[in-house]
Amino acid sequence: MNPQERMAGSGSGGFRLSLVAPIYNEEAAILSFFARVAPIAESITADYEIVCINDGSTDGTLAILETVAATDPRIKVVDLTRRFGKECALTAGLDFASGDAVIPLDADLQDPPELIPELVEKWRAGNDMVLAVRRDRSSDTRAKRGFARLFYRVIGRLGEVPIPDDAGDFRLLDRRVVEAIKLLPERTRFMKGIFAWLGFRQATITYVRPRRVAGVSKWRAWTLWNFALEGITSFSTLPLRVWTYGGLLVALGAFAYMIVIIWRTLVFGRDVPGYPSLISILLFFSGVNMIGLGIMGEYLGRVFIEVKRRPLYLVRQTIGFATPPEAPQRRERHD
Ligand code: UDP
Ligand code: MG
Repeated sequence: MNPQERMAGSGSGGFRLSLVAPIYNEEAAILSFFARVAPIAESITADYEIVCINDGSTDGTLAILETVAATDPRIKVVDLTRRFGKECALTAGLDFASGDAVIPLDADLQDPPELIPELVEKWRAGNDMVLAVRRDRSSDTRAKRGFARLFYRVIGRLGEVPIPDDAGDFRLLDRRVVEAIKLLPERTRFMKGIFAWLGFRQATITYVRPRRVAGVSKWRAWTLWNFALEGITSFSTLPLRVWTYGGLLVALGAFAYMIVIIWRTLVFGRDVPGYPSLISILLFFSGVNMIGLGIMGEYLGRVFIEVKRRPLYLVRQTIGFATPPEAPQRRERHD
């Protein structure tokens, strides 16, 4: 659907809207999610769908989804074989969504569905991607806020494409953007970076992120740390390159020091060997060496994962899809 057609569509209808929700252990939140999202979607277009990705929930989430999907044909369920993580669940959702406009949103209602009409409005005005940006993060803990700020600063410096601060996965994607995402073959799905890399015509709206309605956040400090590492290593090679310059600097310093030692030995004769300085320099630079190796290992590990070319997720069953969607094997390229 091109921008002209989008704008031609009147207040209600004329296009298909897909809402995509990755869901992991949300039995406490899921019903209020549908209750709040459905009327809003309905007010925009009668032709909407809610694609729920059950990311291997271990509580009653799937049972609830099954009953809800049985009563409402617009609620569809993709049940993954295990927990693949939010990023992969979201990828699955984008694969199965069929709308002209697709909006990923969290099932815990932290992405307020009341913003959807505004997102659609900006999309209709001709934008291909409409980002919902957090105005403040008061709903997050202090530590998480500090960490987020640091992360955005680091990745802003390192990455080749600027990643907008505080924009999560909550955004509207035009069909063309979704198709573009499907072309990206990588296994490490750092969605924020992928979205930023795509380009397209973008607009933003701002909002204040509320607390989750029920249940607990699935992110632990360690997961966040790994997520940040993944973000940095999948979108920048600067951590690798830095070692060339670091090594060069150290070698230059060492060379200068060598000259000094030779000169001193020639002029003043041999002095007592300095064991403490020797051992501390040795230990320090072994440490530096290991950090360098570790960073190389980070990248090598990711290369390893990429070359295995495993699918990003596996589907156990789908519920509510009219035509059984062809299993997306699109990432098997034969080149
Ligand atoms: N989620 C998921 N798989 C996971 C972790 C989370 O599908 O492994 C879903 C979760 O059900 C929710 C959304 O991703 O709908 C955001 O998760 P959460 O609220 O825990 O993250 P936070 O809002 O704290 O960043
Ligand atoms: Mg949340």
